[in-house]
Amino acid sequence: MSEQLAVRCKSCGKEFTAPIQLDRASFNDPTNVLSGNSYVCPHCGQTGSYEKEDHFFA
Ligand SMILES: [Zn+2]
Repeated sequence: MSEQLAVRCKSCGKEFTAPIQLDRASFNDPTNVLSGNSYVCPHCGQTGSYEKEDHFFA
């Protein structure tokens, strides 16, 4: 089972898999800032900006 990095859409509140994938070790590495990423939600089509703290493993 591999975990996938996901975010929760800021427009519709549904979760979707982040286009950027990191393993847990890389995610926990503070040098990976993973900030200011713009993702398009596959559920509602809205573009949102996601910071590192918006990401979680699903
Ligand atoms: Zn959405």
